[in-house]
Amino acid sequence: MADASDRLGRDTHLTHVGRAGVRAEGFVNPPLVRGSTVLHADCAARTEAGRKRFDQALVYGLLGTPTHFALENAIASIEGGTRCQIVSSGLAAITVPLLAYLGAGEHCLMPDSVYGPSRHFCDTLLRRLGVETTYYVPTIGADALAGLIHPETRVLFLESPGSHSFEMQDVPALAAAARARGLAVLMDNTWGIQSFQPLRHGVDVSIQALTKYIGGHSDLVLGAITTAAPEHWERIRAAATTLGQYASPDDCWLALRGLRTLGVRLRQQAESGLIVARWFASRQEVQAVLHPALPGAPGHEIWRRDYDGACSLFGVVFQPDISTEQMVAMLDSLALFGIGASWGGFESLALPTTGTIRRSVSPPLPGPAARFHIGLEAPADLIADLEQAFSRLRSR
Ligand SMILES: *Cc1c(COP(=O)(O)O)cnc(C)c1O
Repeated sequence: MADASDRLGRDTHLTHVGRAGVRAEGFVNPPLVRGSTVLHADCAARTEAGRKRFDQALVYGLLGTPTHFALENAIASIEGGTRCQIVSSGLAAITVPLLAYLGAGEHCLMPDSVYGPSRHFCDTLLRRLGVETTYYVPTIGADALAGLIHPETRVLFLESPGSHSFEMQDVPALAAAARARGLAVLMDNTWGIQSFQPLRHGVDVSIQALTKYIGGHSDLVLGAITTAAPEHWERIRAAATTLGQYASPDDCWLALRGLRTLGVRLRQQAESGLIVARWFASRQEVQAVLHPALPGAPGHEIWRRDYDGACSLFGVVFQPDISTEQMVAMLDSLALFGIGASWGGFESLALPTTGTIRRSVSPPLPGPAARFHIGLEAPADLIADLEQAFSRLRSR
């Protein structure tokens, strides 16, 4: 069967992965299995099952049901890994690995552009546990990164492109520099779903918010942590189960349903996203469009080298003579874009960036900014809506 790294074979892969196979008798989809207690033939069988906590075995509900296992297998192969732990949210898929690799007195490197709640976790709970975080410029080179690594540094965290500001990171170079010094390399790959496989570029642990394009319908919250090497799998699995991490099998079942159409949704949304991004770039009110797949945009060269696709989330920086209030009034007047967090659903969204993000070592965006997610609406309708809303940017 075609695998997920083969671009042409991907759609075929998505229709077959995590299923019993076309010649297996029964329903097309894996059944939804709910449960806590697993019964065993006798006490010895139960003891034996307890030794399989790292396998896809029926031990206890918390350790997974066949519904979880089907989703684990599907995500592991999409991400280019071998094993996957499903957790309760995308945020849990970030906090569990950080807790798995870091202890008191140790040090972690985070990109300044990291997803806001990841930063909050480092600055509050991790700090309280005695872990120090250094924020680095996300576009840093490997040599400068090496200069930030101390004997206590255990983790290099990557997120590319950056949340809200969309900086692309040189993942292979940074991962190689960190691994050469014994660090674990963790990457939030939510933006790169299906177009980038971190584990094939030197990353040890790949993180996905399944809430986004895998769910695809804005009706679930779920996360996944994928590994390729057994030692990383054992560490992640042990941390997740020790913390009592669990995801509802109903949500896993919905995520499996979502991923069957991931290929066609993502292709359509990425195409529409570029059409709308080009429209923004053509407007004099716009200073910069932060979309790595747009030629000429920041990070485009790295995107072209490492990615073979995109998603439909990007940023727009307005001219400095436009006020944040004008931009917000423009967003409020949109008829087809919802105002809300999250992304990856079938519907378009807009969200102000200015005033909502924190940076420690990199400069703020050079004007009022907003983030757009393009859904499955016709791009011409979205552009007509933006055109009417943009009239608010001119009259001061
Ligand atoms: C949304 C998001 C998350 C968190 O996902 P939730 O399921 O909402 O907790 C993590 N990383 C990135 C980049 C995200 O956009």
